[in-house]
Amino acid sequence: MSHVFPRHSKAPPPMVSRGDGAYLFDAAGASYLNCGDAAVSCLGHGDAHVTAAIKAQLDRVAFAHTGYFTSAPAEALADRLVAAAPEGLDRVYFVSGGSEAVEAALKLARQYSIEVGQPERSHVIARRQSYHGNTLGALATGGNAARRAPFDPLLMKVSHVSPCYAYRGQAEGETEAQYVDRLIAELEAEIEAQGPETVMAFVAEPVVGATLGAVPAVGKYFARVRALCDQYGILLIFDEVMCGMGRTGTLFASEQHGVSPDICAIAKGLGAGYQPVGAMLCSARIHDTIRDGSGFFQHGHTYLGHPVACAAALAVVERLLDDDVLGRVTPLGDALHDALTERFGQHPHVGDIRGVGLFRAIELVQDRETKAPFDPSDKVHARLKAAAFAQGLICYPMGGSMDGTRGDHVLLAPPFILDDSDVGLLVDRLDAAVRAVLP
Ligand code: PMP
Repeated sequence: MSHVFPRHSKAPPPMVSRGDGAYLFDAAGASYLNCGDAAVSCLGHGDAHVTAAIKAQLDRVAFAHTGYFTSAPAEALADRLVAAAPEGLDRVYFVSGGSEAVEAALKLARQYSIEVGQPERSHVIARRQSYHGNTLGALATGGNAARRAPFDPLLMKVSHVSPCYAYRGQAEGETEAQYVDRLIAELEAEIEAQGPETVMAFVAEPVVGATLGAVPAVGKYFARVRALCDQYGILLIFDEVMCGMGRTGTLFASEQHGVSPDICAIAKGLGAGYQPVGAMLCSARIHDTIRDGSGFFQHGHTYLGHPVACAAALAVVERLLDDDVLGRVTPLGDALHDALTERFGQHPHVGDIRGVGLFRAIELVQDRETKAPFDPSDKVHARLKAAAFAQGLICYPMGGSMDGTRGDHVLLAPPFILDDSDVGLLVDRLDAAVRAVLP
């Protein structure tokens, strides 16, 4: 009998025994190609540079409370992140994971609003079908009503608008520009409905990960969002917890939209699974307003800026940028997209093949023509996850919604150290799983 809380199933999952490159091995010796640990293991398992950096930092000092000390790895990591981040993100606040990064972003936005004399700004607008984490603020911000419901009343007031999801959102005969116009009009109407002087922040993932499956925004969507936020004095918060750290081919996904947010949350790939670590980046304007006002951000966790976590993340950034592991993402991602298109392009139950870099997904439908999703009670995604696991493939499937606004999809987020034969194996194993579930 296991005393550990199980994550999903009632039975405990197999025991992991080791990891090597893109593969995990269980205690019985079975191997799994890891393309589905929520976009964490960007360098795969057993990266010598990262493990050496962790060991070296452990030998120097494992922990020193940030109430007393800063540390060399925290300073060096912040320098590297700021140097590589979109313009205007020049202060870094370290946390231990994605939810904490989003929570810190929300609280920073609130404190800033108060310090600039706008305490009435507390309302957050986010998007339906989004996931921003499990702590109360991040949960309130997420756009999955079913996930929020058990915890109502949540502590924050958040309203939700449509995501930019062309496959299902763009109407027949509508151009991309018209679709973007419609989304921006909806967002503006929501700002007006709430009262522009009460709206604190707009929160969005530049590429939607878990909930929709690697959905990039189209056209000038984010440039228009930025302009609208500026017009109404609303802070723009990007959640790059999943799509950041090179996953889309650039270190920050927002670089590809030419848009800088006021605050940005990163995690997952930052520690690459070697250490739990996340960060919130913000503009000097926000940071300095608080520093020159009340003095400091009213927030803090014991483990923030943990020296070993920062040493691991610094080594990850060095691998991505100095060894150009990041440079592998776009060509490998294109090869994966081509392989998926070749295999599933005509498949009667694959409605869409999408994504960017090594952040890819297929969406499963009953009917390609009508795009009708499967009934959520069929649990296609759960059966597919089990079938893929039995084939030795870890992928990240997610179910559709009862209202038919999204279908079951399978997110694929493999390590950047994959080779061409791994890409072939990935598609073969996924194909076998799809055949087993949807013969
Ligand atoms: N934001 C996004 C976009 C995520 O995908 C996740 C995790 N799936 C989170 C926030 C929360 O991160 P964590 O699980 O590390 O708290």
